[in-house]
Amino acid sequence: MKKSNLEYPFGKKHFPEAGNWQEVAEDVYWLRMPLPMSLDHINLWLLRDSDGWVIVDTGMHSDIGKDIWKKVERDLFKGEPVKKIIVTHMHPDHVGMAGWLTRRHHCDLWMAQTELLTCYRLVSDMGKQAPAVAIQFYEECGHNEEFLEMYRTRFGSYGKAISELPDNFRRLRDMQQLIINDRNWFAFATSGHSPEHMSLHCPDLKLIIAGDQLIPRISSNVSVHALEPEADPLHDWLESNEKILSQLPADLLVLPAHQEPFTGIHDRAQHLIDSHGRSLDRLFKHLDQPRRIVDCFSVLFKRPIKSSDMSAFLATGETRAHLNWLKLRNKITEVSDDDGVLWYQQTV
Ligand SMILES: [Zn+2]
Repeated sequence: MKKSNLEYPFGKKHFPEAGNWQEVAEDVYWLRMPLPMSLDHINLWLLRDSDGWVIVDTGMHSDIGKDIWKKVERDLFKGEPVKKIIVTHMHPDHVGMAGWLTRRHHCDLWMAQTELLTCYRLVSDMGKQAPAVAIQFYEECGHNEEFLEMYRTRFGSYGKAISELPDNFRRLRDMQQLIINDRNWFAFATSGHSPEHMSLHCPDLKLIIAGDQLIPRISSNVSVHALEPEADPLHDWLESNEKILSQLPADLLVLPAHQEPFTGIHDRAQHLIDSHGRSLDRLFKHLDQPRRIVDCFSVLFKRPIKSSDMSAFLATGETRAHLNWLKLRNKITEVSDDDGVLWYQQTV
């Protein structure tokens, strides 16, 4: 396997302490926000505008998060207004504090339409029971009752991790231009990790705020969800990385939502394409005999995935994404057994 060519201008595994920040380019600040999960932080970006500040991504809704934002307002913004809240995508660590911040600063939330509508939809699950088709989705994957019970308990929890969303928003579109402190920034839409993820590219500063699209040493989750069992997000993800290769310059500084800023954007995008290609090859070979989705985890993930682990949700979605990719290209077939469990095998 080719060695990574990424470089870390501020140091590999060097970052501001939780709740602190550092300037990474003129008028661009890197704020490190702690997260209460195994991925224990998110990088948020603060852009100095001519008449205030722009915040990109917001952290998960929490009291710690509120305290950190108050410290940023006091010690960095120093009373200057916040003009915009931009959110790259719908996951709670990104959008979690957006509603709270927009109300606090009387400013708009800027986000892709599909991302925001998906947020509203997931918030509406709060207090409801898991629908029968969603339980069926996980039964089809071969999961046991322990997993299904965990899913039922967890259902609707998205809304608890985000503050109340604003009642209106400003829509971000692909290639939309924003002017921040007399510099041009362009929204850059990709898909696969979430439906309409927006990065922000600033040619003047030669950098891109990349959200979860490009993380230096983590491959972002690409999942099929119960809402759309026949989705093909891996196609979208591979196409998005091709778009990065063809439309973005190679010499950008990448500001990712997790881990550290890096250079080598094309190497990273190509690595993601290649590693999914290898995963598809391994999975295809594994399907020389019929297998269920839960029987495929071992070929896609380096560590064992137990049904009782939260990571089993991500593993299920990601495995089904790879299986759907192969199935939709007629490389494998899918058969349902008498219990409704799906079995996959190479097409003969
Ligand atoms: Zn994400």
